[in-house]
Amino acid sequence: MTIQWFPGHMTKARRQIQDKLKLIDAVIELIDARLPLSSRNPMIDDILQGKPRLIIMNKADLADPEVTRQWLTHFKEQGHTAFPVDASTGTGVKDIPDQVKLLLKEKIDKQIAKGMNPRAMRVLIVGIPNVGKSTLINRLAGRSIAATGDRPGVTKGQQWIKVAGGEMELLDTPGILWPKFEDQNVGYRLAVTGAIKEEILNVEDIAFFAVKYLSKYYWEPMSERFDLKQRPEDFENPDEIVTVMEDIGRKRGCIMSGGRVDLEKASSAFLRELRAGKMGRFSMESPY
Ligand code: GDP
Repeated sequence: MTIQWFPGHMTKARRQIQDKLKLIDAVIELIDARLPLSSRNPMIDDILQGKPRLIIMNKADLADPEVTRQWLTHFKEQGHTAFPVDASTGTGVKDIPDQVKLLLKEKIDKQIAKGMNPRAMRVLIVGIPNVGKSTLINRLAGRSIAATGDRPGVTKGQQWIKVAGGEMELLDTPGILWPKFEDQNVGYRLAVTGAIKEEILNVEDIAFFAVKYLSKYYWEPMSERFDLKQRPEDFENPDEIVTVMEDIGRKRGCIMSGGRVDLEKASSAFLRELRAGKMGRFSMESPY
């Protein structure tokens, strides 16, 4: 589902999260491991008002593992706790409660020192649309709870989901944040990964952006998949990128009457395969 973010939406989303902050001990900020910059909300530090936070790089199964390692180092240097997860299969998910516990260690130790029984850690999951919030909630809960594709503004009764044998409680409705918008490339990167639907940006433009990027950084897996022979020499030359797109289209039988390549069809086919991980794992942003 596509969410058009207008100032009113943003204010509402922000207010909803800030209302929930009063109820919780810690926040899990979900980002896309392929796009740790573009999939983060630009105002996140401000919105979370210093709440303890765990950064989870989701969809790590689709990201370039070497680049993910660089990001983990980067976040650590910044003083954040971050780790990669694949919420769709559950890889890494079981470590989350222990990581939250570490984050809240001081608070929990204080409760114990006062002779109190530490109560369940209350956690809110936040992130931009499509980053995997519902998938993660369902995975942590071990059953299907959160409907995928939540809408901002739709409020329902607040429910706590007990996870990790009752040690942790999750708010069943995640906090939805808007992505960065200020830079057109951010929009394209989000669109390449499927975070922004194709009604907003033109499918051929998205595919052009992706083919250019992959030609530069991931030529081998792309050329292998489509049996491409000619790597562009000048990545800034649109004609060379379009030639690659045409080769891809021919390989997928996207031909119009008259023999010309149907670039729209070719673009859709290409993006579908890319998003499904058929060209291997790739990242679109690196920290260094
Ligand atoms: P939400 O809008 O943040 O709640 O995102 P969803 O939970 O609805 O997930 C969006 C899409 O991403 C769905 O198609 C999920 O199956 C997929 N997805 C979520 N997490 C992962 C992951 O770790 N790896 C992969 N490959 N896909 C994921």
